[in-house]
Amino acid sequence: MEGALTARDRVGIQDFVLLDETTEEAVLSNLKKRFSNDLIYTYIGTLLVSVNPYKELDIYNKTQMELYMGVNFFELPPHIYALADNAYHTMLTEYNNHFILISGESGAGKTEASKKILQYYAVSCPSTALLNTVRDKMLMSNPVLEAFGNAKTLKNDNSSRFGKYMDIQFDSEGEAVGGHILNYLLEKSRVVHQNHGERNFHIFYQLVQGGAEDLLHKLGLERDCHQYNYLTQGECAIVSSINDNNEWKTVKNALQIINIDDTNINYLFEIVASVLHLGNIRFDADIKGNALMNNNASLRWVSNLLDVDAHILQEGLTYRKIEAKADKILSPFTLDHAIYVRDALAKAIYGQTFTWLVSRINESMENKDSSRKTVIGLLDIYGFEVFYVNSFEQFCINYCNEKLQQLFIQLTLKSEQEEYEAEGIEWEPVQFFNNKIICDLVEEKHRGIISILDEECLRPGDATDLTFLERLEDKMGNHPHFVTNIKDLMCQSKNAIVRECFSTLDPDNRRRPETVATQFKSSLLKLTEILMAKEAWYIRCLKSNESKQTGLFDEALIRHQVKYLGLMEHLRVRRAGFAYRRKYDVFLKRYKPLCPATWPHWRGLPADGVEVLVQHLGYLPNEYKMGRTKIFIRYPRTLYATEDAYER
Ligand code: ATP
Ligand code: MG
Repeated sequence: MEGALTARDRVGIQDFVLLDETTEEAVLSNLKKRFSNDLIYTYIGTLLVSVNPYKELDIYNKTQMELYMGVNFFELPPHIYALADNAYHTMLTEYNNHFILISGESGAGKTEASKKILQYYAVSCPSTALLNTVRDKMLMSNPVLEAFGNAKTLKNDNSSRFGKYMDIQFDSEGEAVGGHILNYLLEKSRVVHQNHGERNFHIFYQLVQGGAEDLLHKLGLERDCHQYNYLTQGECAIVSSINDNNEWKTVKNALQIINIDDTNINYLFEIVASVLHLGNIRFDADIKGNALMNNNASLRWVSNLLDVDAHILQEGLTYRKIEAKADKILSPFTLDHAIYVRDALAKAIYGQTFTWLVSRINESMENKDSSRKTVIGLLDIYGFEVFYVNSFEQFCINYCNEKLQQLFIQLTLKSEQEEYEAEGIEWEPVQFFNNKIICDLVEEKHRGIISILDEECLRPGDATDLTFLERLEDKMGNHPHFVTNIKDLMCQSKNAIVRECFSTLDPDNRRRPETVATQFKSSLLKLTEILMAKEAWYIRCLKSNESKQTGLFDEALIRHQVKYLGLMEHLRVRRAGFAYRRKYDVFLKRYKPLCPATWPHWRGLPADGVEVLVQHLGYLPNEYKMGRTKIFIRYPRTLYATEDAYER
């Protein structure tokens, strides 16, 4: 009837596979329609597309969770709970391991998505009182790691500056019984430098803003972020969208829940404060250009808080110590070098402490029971980002994203092919852009960027090599002067966390450690192996606009993401052979009311029932194929007509 709007016209369709045409226009128009109706989720088959609404939607409450528990994937409107629930039930029935890959650029909503999934499992999985504590620890690891590992950037007020892969372990009853986190390359340079409009890690501001008077007094801190060089470079220490004071309370409480005792909590705060004091140590140059320390109050606070000898610390920050036989020769640093060593120390202390925190969290979530468990892994990494000036961190972050895109391409195409093969169905492969050439460009042996940079780093050389070196190497690990003087000092610290962290560093100073880039490459390789052994689920997060504005659908920006996330190709692959597939029993259960012969009960094999049903519905022979366990439907319109009949 002309003029009457169908539900499809008004709110778009729930699965892109059902679109009449697979053009970018059609995809965008559907996304836009849904977004303007606050429908942020849409499927491409079992892949979930999510568009950041930049506002709280009332779709994450307990009632919604209960609605999705144990329900078939396509029976309810698309939701992240549907995906979480399906992964969970498939794991339980098939007794295998899964992972959920959440991708999208910085600010697209990956971390929020991973938290929603964790919350869903916390509510929906059965649990006993004892297990509640494991569950709470998993949930509470988030505010702690976010405080120490997230920061405000130009793209996102709560941007993850480390990569995180978390395994949730389930026993055969489906109870969440343990967890384990792998963390990837924390952006340590942020500790000492922030771009304009960006902040340091949240914890610094939380402590200064939220810490009790007596605590600040004990740590020698003033309640004024502007006093600290490491907090003010971005000129946005205080931002209205972030409540550091409240977050501080959450983090303090969370630290207790993850079993960090009061003594260690104090050590942690002493470390955070000592980094701020380090940043306030200033140097002057004497007439020869050598560094002189001129701010002894800050130095004293660092030595107090870390419980190390102030004199040795000062010496370590301003002199290079050369040991020749029995003699010790002190050679002064230049001003620049002294600043470099100070910053290297700050980054090393902070980076090591972050690693320490992750291991404590892992200890607290560890399940010692040796019975067999299955896992669901949640991967939430830093999103693709391009700034006006891009540094080594962006290189690593974007390389990581390319790697995961590669995994996505391999797995989706591979599993598609395998499914057709397993079901005995022929199909024509679809052309797609394979980003393997980009990954190769970065990681290939001898010829890739990482190899070339490694070579440059090994060659003692000129200024450009030094620049490379600065960007590429973990300054703490590789700096010979730094290692001989200050590392020893840190090992003597009476702050147990600092002592533990530095004592476990590679004791063999002469051996050249791997560069950060190479370490990162190997850790990504390991991650790929971990993921390849599991069944994959995908969430593709899209950023709706660059200004974090509610309700703004920036079409050009979204079109760009749809392109580079390969959504069109994925959609075409899904539709190439057969747009839809369903297990016979599931298909029959849903549509059997449409045929008198199958309603209310079909007594024979589900496959035979489906055959009778589709004959009755008038499916033409080229519209569908019967596989071994599933019906494959070639055109979306066929299923769409069936859906319409069902709705009527
Ligand atoms: P990065 O790569 O920088 O870590 P990210 O993809 O993890 O980015 P998030 O931190 O998850 O991005 O999201 C950025 C912000 O967007 C959130 O702080 C929140 O304000 C908003 N947001 C994201 N997802 C949702 C959602 N489902 N509902 C409401 N707001 C959301
Ligand atoms: Mg994030």
